[in-house]
Amino acid sequence: MHVVVTGGAGYIGSHACKALKLAGFTPVVFDNLTTGWAEAVKFGPLFQGDLLDRAAIDACFAQYRPVAVMHFAALSLVGESMTNPGKYWRTNVNGSLNLIEATLAAGIKNFVFSSTCATYGELDGVTLDEDTSQTPINAYGGSKRAIEMMLRDFEKSSGLNAVIYRYFNVAGADPDGEIGEQHVPETHLIPLMLDAIDGKRPALTVFGSDYNTPDGTCIRDYVHVSDLVDAHVLGLRWLLENKGSRVFCLGSGNGFSVREVIEASRAVTNREVPIIEGQRRPGDATSLVCGSSRAVNELGWQPNRSNLTQMIGDAWRWSRQPRFEK
Ligand code: UDP
Repeated sequence: MHVVVTGGAGYIGSHACKALKLAGFTPVVFDNLTTGWAEAVKFGPLFQGDLLDRAAIDACFAQYRPVAVMHFAALSLVGESMTNPGKYWRTNVNGSLNLIEATLAAGIKNFVFSSTCATYGELDGVTLDEDTSQTPINAYGGSKRAIEMMLRDFEKSSGLNAVIYRYFNVAGADPDGEIGEQHVPETHLIPLMLDAIDGKRPALTVFGSDYNTPDGTCIRDYVHVSDLVDAHVLGLRWLLENKGSRVFCLGSGNGFSVREVIEASRAVTNREVPIIEGQRRPGDATSLVCGSSRAVNELGWQPNRSNLTQMIGDAWRWSRQPRFEK
């Protein structure tokens, strides 16, 4: 059984491909390779194409006749989405609309979508779950919220079944070391911190120490990428059993401040973390922490690798291996 994985050459998508392969599916990566890596496509074929090119999506579906689509491909940088919102709305929303319409035209009814906790916005101190209202404060979150709404409309009009995951902060790397996180440019906290520890960057800049949190830095809920993609396989099975559309939040349920992540990295690597105190980054919410009991109770999800020690340890091992090259 083929599953088309958009963005399958990227960080989360490549880990999903590994999980799909281990679960007996054949992942077909649909990716334009602008931010993804051909070298990360290790678990099934690569179809190089762009979601803004409807004919390419149609050709991929005609060639592989997938039972489902997993849609990871997106622009996902909060900061960039604040300075270049048009790029986010165009790429994420138009690309997803093309994909959804092509999915239905090919007679495929099963769709797994990567949404985000950035759809919630600034809801101080609240544990966020599937029923929390969504008021995004950046264009990245806004574009993902729009795609969630689009999926609901197509469910009503055309019977498309969608499992929507709202990710919290995805971290770590494949524990076997086959794949891991590599972005150019890198903007995420843990890989930047590990590079600073390893001397590949001069220092980590802490974006704001004046938030309304115990130590003044932002709080996030970090989830191990391998746990996250396990949930995708469970969601795919849910769809194939015709259980209908559902939203699930995926996080560990624990919030950690930037300073706590720095401290954990110091402990895991046994090295000092060079830091610079910087300004707040526009678009950052103070605290984003997840209640994921729905995924645990309804999908049987077990996020047992999502502790800081394992996430940072796996990311550290990955970061010190030779990197993917274009
Ligand atoms: N962060 C930071 N310095 C950096 C990158 C990130 O202090 O160089 C902070 C950021 O402000 C946020 C947290 O780390 O509070 C996680 O940011 P990241 O970019 O990893 O993920 P996001 O929350 O934007 O999805």
